[in-house]
Amino acid sequence: MRSKVWIAVVAVLLVLSMVGGGIAASVNRKNREAETTTKGEETPEKKPGGKEEPGTKASDETTTEPVTDESTTEEPETKETETKNIDKSKPMVALTFDDGPYEGKTDVILDILEEHPGAAVTFFELGDRMLKYPDIIRREEELGSEVGAHSYGHRRLTELTADQIAEDFKKQQKVFQEILGHDMTVYRPPYGKMNADVHAQIKAPLIIWTVDTKDWSHDNAQKLIETFKKEGANGMLDGKVVLMHSTKDSTVEAMKTVVPWLIDEGYQLVTVTDLARYGYDTEMKAGKDYGYKFFTGLGAAKQE
Ligand SMILES: [Zn+2]
Repeated sequence: MRSKVWIAVVAVLLVLSMVGGGIAASVNRKNREAETTTKGEETPEKKPGGKEEPGTKASDETTTEPVTDESTTEEPETKETETKNIDKSKPMVALTFDDGPYEGKTDVILDILEEHPGAAVTFFELGDRMLKYPDIIRREEELGSEVGAHSYGHRRLTELTADQIAEDFKKQQKVFQEILGHDMTVYRPPYGKMNADVHAQIKAPLIIWTVDTKDWSHDNAQKLIETFKKEGANGMLDGKVVLMHSTKDSTVEAMKTVVPWLIDEGYQLVTVTDLARYGYDTEMKAGKDYGYKFFTGLGAAKQE
């Protein structure tokens, strides 16, 4: 069947080419002219893997990266924010962990979160450590947690010049682009220290905290658990941002009890961005700070 069709097609083409040889030639020339002009117009925008073989390799290599970046960053991000299953009428708390990532600690926190689908936290990570453990950073985001920035190398920003702050910020922003393919969403300045230069140079919302657990001051998991049971009873942590550190084994150990306890108490574990968005109906702005005066707590407001 197929071969017969092909023979017929070839025969028709032969006849046509003999009859209209002259016409075909001029048409062909016109087509080619049209092709070259449209190609010339398109190349600056697209570079669609043209027929010109020699010399295109170098430019092809440089164009492939941004193209894939665009397609991967846009799609999943918008979907994620839309599918968040957060109940505004129920208590929500934002646990935050600074100074990571640490192998054997941050990944253990992630293991705990993974056992409780929907539970998310925010990690305020250091740029130089992010480069050491890019897989941990990507897993944080994959599990629905938020990767925040905590400067590149934990220098006290208020002791730097405006240019140095800007440089530190850009250096870490580049790390975010390299590992996650997008800009940072939130930033916590080291030691919570800020001044006018920090507000001007850090192009992300500046997040402080409502509750400082002081987990850095001891190695006692039980003490941290008790802090949560005291601060978190009766929905008192609703709407609050809790400061902890991913540098401490005792903090990681405590989370094995604290995470399920908070969930049993009716808390939704949410990221800082989602706490602002769903708890306070606020899209946080770059360069503005959000601390205990903003994350005041929602429990009292609900009782009124
Ligand atoms: Zn820190």
